[in-house]
Amino acid sequence: MLDEKLDDIYDEVLRRNPAEPEFHQAVREVLGSVGPVLTKFPQYTAQKIIQRICEPERQIIFRVPWQDDNGDVHINRGYRVEFNSALGPFKGGLRFHPSVSLGTVKFLGFEQIFKNSLTGMPIGGGKGGSDFDPKGRSDNEVMRFCQSFMTELYRHIGEYTDVPAGDIGVGTREIGWMFGQYKRITNRYESGTLTGKGLSWGGALVRPEATGYGAVFFLQEMLKVQGREIEGRTCVVSGAGNVAIHAIEKLQQLGGRVLACSDSQGYVYDPDGIDLPTLRQVKEVERERLTKYVEYRPGATFHKRGNIWEVPTEVALPCATQNELAAADARLLVANGCLAVAEGANMPTTPEGLDVLRAGGVLFGPGKAANAGGVATSALEMQQNAARDSWTFAHTEAKLGEIMSSIHEQCAATAEAYGRPGDYVLGANIAGFVKVADAMVALGLI
Ligand code: GLU
Repeated sequence: MLDEKLDDIYDEVLRRNPAEPEFHQAVREVLGSVGPVLTKFPQYTAQKIIQRICEPERQIIFRVPWQDDNGDVHINRGYRVEFNSALGPFKGGLRFHPSVSLGTVKFLGFEQIFKNSLTGMPIGGGKGGSDFDPKGRSDNEVMRFCQSFMTELYRHIGEYTDVPAGDIGVGTREIGWMFGQYKRITNRYESGTLTGKGLSWGGALVRPEATGYGAVFFLQEMLKVQGREIEGRTCVVSGAGNVAIHAIEKLQQLGGRVLACSDSQGYVYDPDGIDLPTLRQVKEVERERLTKYVEYRPGATFHKRGNIWEVPTEVALPCATQNELAAADARLLVANGCLAVAEGANMPTTPEGLDVLRAGGVLFGPGKAANAGGVATSALEMQQNAARDSWTFAHTEAKLGEIMSSIHEQCAATAEAYGRPGDYVLGANIAGFVKVADAMVALGLI
């Protein structure tokens, strides 16, 4: 239930943004936490901070025409939602996936505001992408698409304006093609305009690993409060992309036993533990589906259309996509004795799923906090670009570790201060919100 005043604001959000269910869900979750903050700080109400925060500063929608290898013409839609720049230039990834719509980009951009605030780095929130489907496309096709996308986007972005990065469907390869086109059009080698770059052209060590590693560091902090460790525990990680692969890597480094991972076709169960070199070979080198994994690992089984959350586990990391962990899945996790869930993806748990996990006493690290390591390390990449410097892996990983434990500390302390110890959702939402709200008040009515 929302406070009465917030209820009216939420109704207005629904009215102004029809048919954007994911955006509504993301807004509702934040509004569900900030009631006590408004009571404490009446200036936020007077300044209509909530209404302003729910309205993007700028939304860009554009046509992306491109030609496939047969010469056929395709038209996709490109988006960049510049949501909030109170704390710094808009910052957030680009997602290329057929499911992307304006509502998707708005939900992601909205989450990004509070996530970026929690990192403590000077970055605002934004997100972009396209309904382009890179699956089955040749390198040349994806390159042509990226070039066409940037031919419009370049005029809206920049080191001091808006700094995109990757997300689902956008990795170093795509960032390279977009950076190349940006450089060509502008005739400027502006490294600080995009993050997630390759090492030899302005990229930073640890950026590829950062989201997955960060989620595991956050999990480690949550377990530590309860006097527990990752060592020896069974783990299940959904997804098989960049976030999942690096979450698996860090879990294994810390002694976790990762039994399963998944893609859109089903999940792999490997009783001997997921073999990382095999997974990387299949996903990163061959760019194949997970079914290929079991060809290399006869002891493993592929469960076509199977539900990964049926695999009994002490630790669950949803690292695939939004709303992948619903109430029935949460019930399976609770029944199988799951201790902790840390969200590597953005909003992978449904509100009903979250209720079940809460009722089951499962530790829960929300994406805003748990997956903030990626964007935090993007901000470290920006720092290195600005200083024309490059840091070592060990130094950067140590910084990432410090940032994740500071995020954990902020969430835990805020939850405690608002009378809900251990509620990381409330802690993340309030701590993330207050910093942005204060900056908005300070900057005046803009
Ligand atoms: N897409 C990532 C996220 O959801 C990273 C964004 C970035 O590095 O700017 O936070």
